[in-house]
Amino acid sequence: MRTHDRLRIAIQKSGRIGDPARELLARAGFAFRQGQDKLFCRGESLPFDLLLVRDDDIPGLIEEGSADLGIVGLNLVEERRMETEPDRLRVRMPLGFGRCRLAIALPDLAEWRGPETLEGRRIATSYPVTLARWLQAEKVSAEVVQLSGSVEIAPRLGKADAICDLVSTGATLAANQLREAATVLESEAVLVGPEPPFTDGRADLAALLERRLQGALGLRATRLLLCQAPRDALPAILGLLGDAEPPTVTRIEGRDDAVSLQALCRSAMTWQRLEDIKRAGASGLLVLPVEQMLA
Ligand code: ATP
Ligand code: MG
Repeated sequence: MRTHDRLRIAIQKSGRIGDPARELLARAGFAFRQGQDKLFCRGESLPFDLLLVRDDDIPGLIEEGSADLGIVGLNLVEERRMETEPDRLRVRMPLGFGRCRLAIALPDLAEWRGPETLEGRRIATSYPVTLARWLQAEKVSAEVVQLSGSVEIAPRLGKADAICDLVSTGATLAANQLREAATVLESEAVLVGPEPPFTDGRADLAALLERRLQGALGLRATRLLLCQAPRDALPAILGLLGDAEPPTVTRIEGRDDAVSLQALCRSAMTWQRLEDIKRAGASGLLVLPVEQMLA
């Protein structure tokens, strides 16, 4: 029996979710020491450890209690959740990376008239439970052909008439002469834990982890904008800052007609946005990254 004074987080060993997950944990201030077996990493200063596994195994590890929390694509969580009654997994927090969609795709030349096009057809997928639910909701009866990989070549092999697979840019579909027709599920990486949630010492640890992750995610796009501007241009400039926290406006020694402005901007500070601010009258614009913040 494990004690509940440390929290074990399962993440993908490497790949689309695992690499950004480790980066996010590092940005949130967690450091780990890799064990001999390359499967377990012990937290260096905080009571959080990592279990490095295949992403498919993460929902099951949490259900059976071998891991306390996991970082995994919502697609895998949903596929698993729909199989178990009652629910044994809880999505605790979206993490904003690993975005993709589980989508229906057809051969380029096939006609699409909405979901009913799939009536009586064979659809290849690695997500049979999610697909079956979607078909049921769309009142379509089709044959679900379960494949564990290379789903996109099934139509060419004559094994299926359509596929239901993960898509992000669509490049893989295009390379296989397939075209996206409908979205079954929108997905991104999530922090997942057991349902019902912890009632022991792990509840406080999970809350600490979530606060740290929120902080790291919130800081990603946050920038500090510094500039000068004529007083009468202020309303227009403040209008362009939109999501900024209330800015600090200070006087400039020896100039009564202009002020210095300092604003914390939460969403991406693009060149376009900067040029708009300059056009509104600002000068000497400086955009600085924010490394740490304690509100
Ligand atoms: P393993 O099972 O060995 O851990 P994998 O091949 O299943 O690796 P990846 O290809 O790294 O894993 O994908 C993991 C997750 O990344 C998917 O479950 C999904 O949530 C997300 N993802 C984001 N974009 C895509 C995409 N274009 N194709 C596939 N998965 C994607
Ligand atoms: Mg996998």
